[in-house]
Amino acid sequence: MGNIQELDIQLANKIAAGEVVERPASVVKELVENAIDAGASVVTVKVKEAGLQSIAVTDNGSGILEEDIPLAFGRHATSKIHSNHDLFHIRTLGFRGEALASITSVSRVTLKTCADNEVGHLVKVENSRLVEQTLTRAKQGTEIIVEDLFYNTPARLKYVKSLHTELGKITDIMNRFAMSHTDIRFKLMADDRILLQTSGNGKLNEVMAQVYGMTIARDLVEIKGETGDYRVTGRIARPEHTRANRHYMSLFINGRYIRNFVLTKAILAGYHTLLPIGRYPVVAIDITMDPGLVDVNVHPTKQEVRLSKEPELMTLITRLIRDALLGENLIPEMTAPK
Ligand code: ADP
Ligand code: MG
Repeated sequence: MGNIQELDIQLANKIAAGEVVERPASVVKELVENAIDAGASVVTVKVKEAGLQSIAVTDNGSGILEEDIPLAFGRHATSKIHSNHDLFHIRTLGFRGEALASITSVSRVTLKTCADNEVGHLVKVENSRLVEQTLTRAKQGTEIIVEDLFYNTPARLKYVKSLHTELGKITDIMNRFAMSHTDIRFKLMADDRILLQTSGNGKLNEVMAQVYGMTIARDLVEIKGETGDYRVTGRIARPEHTRANRHYMSLFINGRYIRNFVLTKAILAGYHTLLPIGRYPVVAIDITMDPGLVDVNVHPTKQEVRLSKEPELMTLITRLIRDALLGENLIPEMTAPK
């Protein structure tokens, strides 16, 4: 007999969880992404002890059909892509079919779901195994409660930082969801304190007022423009509101929060000399493009992307920011020498 064996499912899921579920905020991210993909207009997140005791995410989206329930927790099981073509034209936030499998391998999960206003289902999963399934009364949508995160992976639990830091990361992720999905009503509660509550009225400046405060919200300038391939919209703060790090710059591609060095450089180039050295602006910029132009299958957390026609997009972003600031008379217009 040879030496190589296929790993059992629990072990395989735990290995994937190592990448996908780094900390409580990763669970919040994955569950809220699922709620958004399910077409929810109201998403509520409640955490206890910065998510280590529990994370509950409730949505009023499509719900999960009874026959799909066991599959939802399976590895590489997804309703979002079906073919090779789909993988290169992603229109949803999720597509890897890994999050629920990973989360259920490192916590105790209770799911309550109801699709098409039929009867609800209550399911409990532990160690990647369905341990209970009953009928229940439930409203249309899904509620997932994740308890005792990392109870069976002590090394990972040790790595988790202070509750304060972890809660900060959760808030941060929720703020970015609120800025990228202004038409969804989000609420974040931590140990019965409300940390974020948006109206879902579609107004980015109102969400930014919630996230960054009124002083900044009063000094936001709108940017908007397109080329054949890209449409860029957003709000940028006037340059007097600079920050000491890049953290206040949010970039979204087709509604997904991403990090991208080159596009960040394009934003900074738009502000040009208005930013003191080592200072960064407050911006929220949404880029819409054909999903065929962006590859999001780079890293399990899906925050890194590869773009086609990057230079075209860079030029557009820099120009829009520069023009917007010019319009505010913040950049002196250069006159060509006669
Ligand atoms: P992915 O989002 O990559 O498809 P997940 O493991 O996050 O993978 O979820 C697996 C599947 O479970 C999804 O494809 C979706 O069909 C279903 N699902 C998960 N969460 C929800 C939800 N809140 N509402 C409706 N369906 C859901
Ligand atoms: Mg998902």
